[in-house]
Amino acid sequence: MFDHSYIPKDHPRYESLKTREKMTTGMSDHVVAPAGLIAHGRGEAFDYLIGEKSGAFADEAVHAAACAFLIAEHPVISVNGNIAALCPEDLVRLSGETGALLEVNLFYRSAVREKAIMKVLKNAGAKHVLGIGKNASAVLPEVGSARRRVDPEGILKADMVFVPLEDGDRTEGLVNMGKRVITVDLNPLSRTACKATVTIVDNILRAMPALIAKIKELKNRDKAWLTSEFASFSNTAVMRKCIGHISKRLTETGRHLYEE
Ligand code: ATP
Ligand code: MG
Repeated sequence: MFDHSYIPKDHPRYESLKTREKMTTGMSDHVVAPAGLIAHGRGEAFDYLIGEKSGAFADEAVHAAACAFLIAEHPVISVNGNIAALCPEDLVRLSGETGALLEVNLFYRSAVREKAIMKVLKNAGAKHVLGIGKNASAVLPEVGSARRRVDPEGILKADMVFVPLEDGDRTEGLVNMGKRVITVDLNPLSRTACKATVTIVDNILRAMPALIAKIKELKNRDKAWLTSEFASFSNTAVMRKCIGHISKRLTETGRHLYEE
């Protein structure tokens, strides 16, 4: 393992470097796949573009996502290596607040990685983790890659699936199966962002606490109100706002940084 203790606390990108440390440690522990590091880098680049803070477009999507969780009959949280390395405690908290089941679902599936991720979730307090070994016995024909293997008790029968840091193919497959798909993705141009029912364009490290807080706030609202709030949400409109924010920021910041 590398020694990351050299990161000085006053480094301007201290938080980002610590997060990278979680990812590289996760890779050494077989939680993160090597390609997961590249996906993380793509996310970081988009975080720079949005200004590394949550925008109004993210708040709106968090509101709709919270409603979706609270009206779902059978919500499932799909867990991959990157998210397990970044925020396992928040995943367990989200599951506890909503009753959503945790299911491991991997693009690069191996018995070693499944077990490593399950261990991380259990250490964070999870009681039960779906999608491990023989339990991932169902196959979704709508989805390509190893991600088509799912747990009959979880994603197969879910009416809502939370798929943060997701691949576009699977998002599209799940939507085509009639499931509501909620995602967190820093790239508003990705196929996932375009296809999901609700896309929270924000860093997962900011989005998870915001989503949990919103769910706590709305928990006692009645179903009719939650359903109508959810129905009034337009992902297309929110994605347009997000792209508008990035364009404006690039023009204004570019002018400010490189004034003649
Ligand atoms: P798609 O398949 O949807 O077109 P992609 O192939 O670019 O997208 P994947 O590698 O399939 O991307 O999925 C990873 C996604 O997760 C990327 O879009 C990336 O921007 C996003 N991402 C990475 N790290 C984070 C993070 N910390 N928070 C939120 N999103 C992230
Ligand atoms: Mg992809």
